[in-house]
Amino acid sequence: MKDNKLIIFSVAIALTLTIGGLHSCLSDVKHNELPVQTDSVVVAKVETTPVTSVKGEDAADDPAIWVNFNDPSKSLIIGTNKKGGLCVYRLNGEEIFYTPIGHVNNIDLRYGFPLSNRKADIVATTNRTYNTLQILAINPETGELADITRNSLKSSLDEVYGVALYKSKITSNYYAFVTGKGGGLEQWELKATSDGGVTGTVVREIVIGSQSEGLVADDESGYLFVAEEDVRIWKYRAEPDSGNLRVLIPLSDSTNKRISYDLEGLALYHTKKGTGYLIVSSQGNNSYAIFEKNGMHRYIGSFRIGSGCIDDVEETDGIDVCNCYLGNRFPNGIFVVQDGLNTNGKDTLNQNFKIVPWESIAKLFNPPLEVDSSFLF
Ligand code: CA
Ligand code: CA
Ligand code: CA
Ligand code: CA
Ligand code: CA
Repeated sequence: MKDNKLIIFSVAIALTLTIGGLHSCLSDVKHNELPVQTDSVVVAKVETTPVTSVKGEDAADDPAIWVNFNDPSKSLIIGTNKKGGLCVYRLNGEEIFYTPIGHVNNIDLRYGFPLSNRKADIVATTNRTYNTLQILAINPETGELADITRNSLKSSLDEVYGVALYKSKITSNYYAFVTGKGGGLEQWELKATSDGGVTGTVVREIVIGSQSEGLVADDESGYLFVAEEDVRIWKYRAEPDSGNLRVLIPLSDSTNKRISYDLEGLALYHTKKGTGYLIVSSQGNNSYAIFEKNGMHRYIGSFRIGSGCIDDVEETDGIDVCNCYLGNRFPNGIFVVQDGLNTNGKDTLNQNFKIVPWESIAKLFNPPLEVDSSFLF
């Protein structure tokens, strides 16, 4: 019954898109009429220290960018090594911290969580060793991560997979969305404990359908985007009382010839005026597809990361993007991706993360994508 309702709602939305008639993006909704692209390849400027694993095995997965607003050049990238723990890197790629907390799959972060004794920037990760959601605090001075989870936040999903954090503008509550390999989704409300930690309770459960990993929440608009790996991207409302209604993102499926499953990581680029982009890793053809973040979610185009001084990028799992000024090396923000096949040009090394300046991606498109470092989280 619920599924039927979802389908009916989705079809209704799709019809609205097709017959609305007022939106300039309608031509893009038709199959096979993709935007013209002349250039679609950028190169990475920095790559991180490879993760520790058995040689070359699939281990690195999902990055998150933490902005140091006191000294943006000291911003950090936190990445998962699904064979062992969380890694922290400087913007020059150097690993400065590692915590072996288990088989952590995905990661997300938010600023200013009100703990009982202070505010902390927090990281959420899905730990497959224990089938839990785990919360850590970022030490802004050292880049170290400290586990502040209270009571084991054990999921009832069959196997925890993706994670996204959401801070509600309506209630100021913080939530974590967790996907499971079986196609389910849990929404956890996070709460401070009296001893300076964080605990949580499940306040909403959704059936996505099939395996879903990548997801991201937009605190500005109050929406959650979920990538059902072999199907398409869905949009839900992020507030816990908003039910199961969902909207499909047009051209996020195989009707778009530039997309090849799996749909993996999702990330949001924000601008001050509220516009921006939704980016997805199209793992099957080593590329990234860009949609408008708002409105009708028009498909803008796709690109990949080719070889330059640093090797090209293949089979990306997780991604993150940040619009902020991050010092002289990256004054217009960065796009960070997992590289499924890291090499030194000839030999296979362990996997790592690649960093691309945002402006080099923006320049690929005509008109160029927006470059706006003024939105602050
Ligand atoms: Ca992989
Ligand atoms: Ca996956
Ligand atoms: Ca993955
Ligand atoms: Ca590579
Ligand atoms: Ca390399």
